[in-house]
Amino acid sequence: MRRGFYGLLTLVLGFIIGCAPSSKPSSNPSTPETSSSGALQVVFFDVGQGDSALIVFPNGKTMLIDGGETTQGRRLVQKLNQRGVKQIDWLVATHPHSDHIGGLIQVLNSFPVVEVWDIAMPFESPVYRDFLLAVRRAKTPDGKRPVFRKVRSGLTLEPAPEVRLSVLAPREPLLVGTRSDPNNNSLVLRVDAPGGSFLFTGDIEREGRRRLYEARVNLRAEVLKVSHHGASNGTDRAFLDRVKPRVAVISVGASNRYGHPHRETLALLQGVRLYRTDWHGDIVMRLGADKQLQIATERRAPTQPAPAKPSTKAIHSGIVIGNRHSKVYHAPDCPRLPKPENQVRFRSAEEATRAGYRPHTCVEGE
Ligand SMILES: [Zn+2]
Ligand SMILES: [Zn+2]
Repeated sequence: MRRGFYGLLTLVLGFIIGCAPSSKPSSNPSTPETSSSGALQVVFFDVGQGDSALIVFPNGKTMLIDGGETTQGRRLVQKLNQRGVKQIDWLVATHPHSDHIGGLIQVLNSFPVVEVWDIAMPFESPVYRDFLLAVRRAKTPDGKRPVFRKVRSGLTLEPAPEVRLSVLAPREPLLVGTRSDPNNNSLVLRVDAPGGSFLFTGDIEREGRRRLYEARVNLRAEVLKVSHHGASNGTDRAFLDRVKPRVAVISVGASNRYGHPHRETLALLQGVRLYRTDWHGDIVMRLGADKQLQIATERRAPTQPAPAKPSTKAIHSGIVIGNRHSKVYHAPDCPRLPKPENQVRFRSAEEATRAGYRPHTCVEGE
């Protein structure tokens, strides 16, 4: 099982980013050891519509950032076992939405955990309550209770020699009154290692990004975990100009009901090497002593279609037209508009997305 999985990874992939032509990939870029491999590994797990990323530091210490929905928990535990993970040193909940913390419950029940990081904002939900109960029941490797840390910006850590981890958000006081306070208060962190930096953005939206700019933190990173599953409120040109990523990862479920990732986001990411968990499955990045980033994926992307060009009309005029039956929305100039009796008008694509509609690829045709 384990051999088959990694065999597939090795076969399918081996993209090397920014390597000199003479440099060779290691024979197995997704080597799962969690100790003394000397490389920094980041695995973006395919957890359907949700987020989950594992960092294995060069000294074998592990950080798990989010865990997808509760229904993904068992599968996530299997994946961690397959990667040889024995304990979680830092279990990080970026914000209390179920698509980020649900799967962490099973992880807390299954692995020793040393520290839990949480933004600890007031939030009521059955999943968050179960998460906190699981934290209370969890054990460290020596049978104690894990440290529960309410995390704010400014926290830094050297989890392994030459690796620096910095929490960039949230800061006090937490944002209130935004479109989604949990999203905007997401824990944002960067990992700097020789050869590259990773930026994990949770689900931050516009107000959360503005705070990062105000704090004048360093946002430059080679690898960006795109915020909010590629929603249009998670990314804009100004943010990408600051991050300047070479590689972007969108953690998203196939055919999800939110229409993530948004085609505006995909258009903005043109020119950036894009990986998506719905296309590629698990995505494994490795930064070794050669300081070169190697990327392996569980699957090949289906056809690697070019992101649909946004319809100028849809974006400039704002109006989109939904089909009340299929819950798909179209640019007003789309040749495949629904019959008039089935049409619902929205003032913007965002409004349509909020109403549960997903975009039709109007420009490219299907
Ligand atoms: Zn969220
Ligand atoms: Zn989310």
